[in-house]
Amino acid sequence: MVLATLILIAGCAERETRGRALLVGVDGATAAVLDTMIAEGQLENFAALRASGASGMLRSEFPLLSPRIWTSIATGKVPEVHGIENWVHLDEAGRPLLYSSHDRRVPAIWNILSESGYTVAVVNWLMSHPPERISGVMLSDHATPDVLTRRIQMGEELTRRAFPDATGGFVASEHDTPFAEPAEWATRFADELARRDPLTDIENPFENEGQEPENPLLKYLSDIFRADQALTRTALEIERELRPDLLIVYLPGVDRVSHFLFSALVELEKIPEMHHQAAEIREENARNLRLYYRYVDQLIGKLTARYGRDDLILVVSDHGFEAPHEPHHELQGIHVSDAARDGVVSMRAPGVPGGWRAEGMSIYDVTPTLLAWFGLPTAEDMAGRVPSFVPFAITRTVRSYDSVPIVRMRDTGSHVEPEIIRELRSLGYVQ
Ligand SMILES: [Zn+2]
Repeated sequence: MVLATLILIAGCAERETRGRALLVGVDGATAAVLDTMIAEGQLENFAALRASGASGMLRSEFPLLSPRIWTSIATGKVPEVHGIENWVHLDEAGRPLLYSSHDRRVPAIWNILSESGYTVAVVNWLMSHPPERISGVMLSDHATPDVLTRRIQMGEELTRRAFPDATGGFVASEHDTPFAEPAEWATRFADELARRDPLTDIENPFENEGQEPENPLLKYLSDIFRADQALTRTALEIERELRPDLLIVYLPGVDRVSHFLFSALVELEKIPEMHHQAAEIREENARNLRLYYRYVDQLIGKLTARYGRDDLILVVSDHGFEAPHEPHHELQGIHVSDAARDGVVSMRAPGVPGGWRAEGMSIYDVTPTLLAWFGLPTAEDMAGRVPSFVPFAITRTVRSYDSVPIVRMRDTGSHVEPEIIRELRSLGYVQ
């Protein structure tokens, strides 16, 4: 009784007492794979979300580059406005550089909610390094080992293709800041990464009887498996200790694994001959990719188990996967054409009917929906809106949230100082 009274007093003026929110991003989760595996009864938690809420496709936008899309999901804005357009860009001197969170020109959902008095935890969101100081915790996407090395490799490759006129070699824009804010969470994540005990009943299929594989690809995939587990464990710890109003978790594994295994789920006739693999390799790859989906389903189950009927749960992907269809495609799974354009969304919240088919929701609608959950209106300078099936939509709007401060961590050698940057930008700013 006392607790209930306190909650009522603390509630924001515009917001009825509502629960917390969980947003899980699963990079590259593909509708066709989910549909098949849910029908077969293999994805308990995705199935439960569909049965108890709304689900459907999440309309995405070309080019299907994850940094653009995840930043649009977190800001409600188009890439030309939010500023993260690719993995790599050229500086004024024409030198290629990796994008970082410093290139994001607009506040994200975590900045807006922090400024509005809510607590937020962000775990591994793409392009979140250096982390920002928010009301809660931010573990950046560089906390996972070797991310920078892999981004540099990818950046060099992309530069050759996308920026043939780039002057000089690739510049690694390494930031000398901790991987988390507060920094202790980077250490705690590293501790989780070192653990060998499983969180789910799925064994790491890329390990060699519990040993690290020697084959570099298997080692990479095995590390991805362990990273998704450590990220989930860290998110669960943050949830237990902080009980943030909004918890955001980004799981990269499905995308990374699909790049190497996806064609095994597609009929051989639809794949160029140069990408054909021996039958036993196809079988093994198909088995492992499906196992990975079951694994992520279980990780999602661990997270959603912390949330009740009064809470909002959103699970989204940024795009789907397709098999290679041109000889020049180097990987066994790609996302370039219409076949892979759209991601998926599942939403469970009070008042959203179970089994509802979500139509027409886009990557830009995620931030407006989260804002509405917390009693905050959509901004007129966002590209999205709250979908019509959402019962907690707010009719009034605000012009912009661009004056919300972004407290960025700046490189200062051995210690780090936050710098408040107020980015007041005119409506419709495009560059
Ligand atoms: Zn990808």
